[in-house]
Amino acid sequence: MRNKRSKIDSAIAEAKALVRENPTQATKLADWAFKEAQSKQHLKGQADALSIFATLFAESDPSASYDFSSTASEMYRQLGDTSSEAESLLNIASYYERSGWTCRSHFVLLTALELASQSNDGKLSATVMYDLGINAEGRDELESALEYYTCAKYSAENAQHDSIYWRAVCAEQEMHYALANGRFELETVQKALSALDKVGMEKTQIEIEIFLSKVAHDQLDFRTAQTGLRRAYGLAETIGAENIKAEIICQVGENRLDDGKLNSAKKLLKIALARAQENGLRSLELSCLKLLSRAMAQMGDVEAALELLTTYSDIKEELHAHEAKIHFQEVRTSRDLQMLVEESKALKQTNAELAAVNERLESALREKRSLQKELERLATIDELTNALNRREIMACGSEIISRFHTQGRPGVVMIVDIDHFKSINDGWGHSAGDEVLRRFSRSCQNVLRPTDRFGRLGGEEFCILLDRTSLDIALKVAERVMNSIRASRVSDILGDRSITASIGIVEVSKKHKTIEDALQDADLGLYEAKGSGRDKICVTGVKKKKAA
Ligand code: GH3
Ligand code: MG
Ligand code: MG
Repeated sequence: MRNKRSKIDSAIAEAKALVRENPTQATKLADWAFKEAQSKQHLKGQADALSIFATLFAESDPSASYDFSSTASEMYRQLGDTSSEAESLLNIASYYERSGWTCRSHFVLLTALELASQSNDGKLSATVMYDLGINAEGRDELESALEYYTCAKYSAENAQHDSIYWRAVCAEQEMHYALANGRFELETVQKALSALDKVGMEKTQIEIEIFLSKVAHDQLDFRTAQTGLRRAYGLAETIGAENIKAEIICQVGENRLDDGKLNSAKKLLKIALARAQENGLRSLELSCLKLLSRAMAQMGDVEAALELLTTYSDIKEELHAHEAKIHFQEVRTSRDLQMLVEESKALKQTNAELAAVNERLESALREKRSLQKELERLATIDELTNALNRREIMACGSEIISRFHTQGRPGVVMIVDIDHFKSINDGWGHSAGDEVLRRFSRSCQNVLRPTDRFGRLGGEEFCILLDRTSLDIALKVAERVMNSIRASRVSDILGDRSITASIGIVEVSKKHKTIEDALQDADLGLYEAKGSGRDKICVTGVKKKKAA
């Protein structure tokens, strides 16, 4: 038996090593290992084989790759193998990311980060942090992307993870550049590029070449930009990265477009668009549509341009109903704007009429601004539960801490964690779990005061912040929350089973320099509440324990 297992394990190790050089052989080995592991009920062997399949299919069949990863991650979870589980979650997140589901991807990455830090795996943490940066960038939260990249850089340096280190160095510079905060250093990027030349990490080299081209592009140095893109394309060809090639074609199209070479831009963008559609690269498809629409508009074909924008917005809608609604209005607004611009040209002679057009233009702009505001609000909300998202609740927490230190204003921090939530997922399925999370969130918010803040820290863990509140009052609020949670209507989902939660509470004090400090203390209370039977409130730092 042992012998058989070690045979399976060595087949897996060999397959892993062959993934890049000889995928056919790797597939054969993994296939054999999987079947053997299955017949010997060797769960880890099965999971490892599935992970190899996930890697092998990542490019050619992303949704199959996703399925392999989710099955593997479930197995690793059963085995308590946190670092392997985190690695599978990384694959899942990247699938979500490329499908345009950035919120889901964000959530999965946060879970992966938790697992990586549980398993004390520095390299893995650095990788997750880096992916969180990419994700934040995708959500247009550049400041937070910058933070993630900087963290990734330092953890990668500590863990001596070269490839992530250099990628993070460059990504950090990219964020400085995008934020125009005056901290961008071209030499650092060039240095990274030559460092990578020696270690042969083509994918990263390609990314950097593309970025440097963008910098040149922005400086209207289209020639340098094109040379860089050509180098990137060559590298992509050597490693057979078809998707990246499609992306580069799109970039070259943009280059041509801004250089005023409209025909060639149109041609290239159409090629890139077709490849994006063939391979299901939704975000690339969106970029191509936008650029093509611009090209058509510049060529004077406003109808075609509008049609492309409409397709663009349809896809967005499909990807994300809520976000898309706003985008569609945006598109409509820009269509209105475009029509108004046309009109204003025709009516140039008549001042009175022009004034009317201006008036409408201005109202269109106002509408755009209010859409912008709505988008900003959405950026602070957790999509699933409608609570504040982690970033926002942490920001509110920092304010409470700083008001305590500057004005001596009292405040209380609570962590609320649903009891045995995992068993709900296991017993009724993930989407039932999601609905329970929604109702739980509503139950909590229903009994909070207008000045209390309620946010999701991640998973089934939430935070309540009570400003200008003493511990005595806070305990009353906590009781109310507990009662409301117990009374949540869930019978239509869970039958007889009701839900409960445990709460850890701490009053903000001098020793809390940051909100993280206070949360850590509240977590001690939570830990105690869980340990003493759950469905309890425990206060950290106070002798008296209050059973709910
Ligand atoms: P305890 O009482 O000790 O807190 O046990 P628990 O099961 O509640 O806690 P644990 O951390 O073991 O499990 C939390 C589970 O919550 C694991 C994860 O799969 C699940 N989960 C996290 N986020 C979501 C989500 O957005 N939707 C659903 N359905 N499940 C989630
Ligand atoms: Mg829990
Ligand atoms: Mg938890």
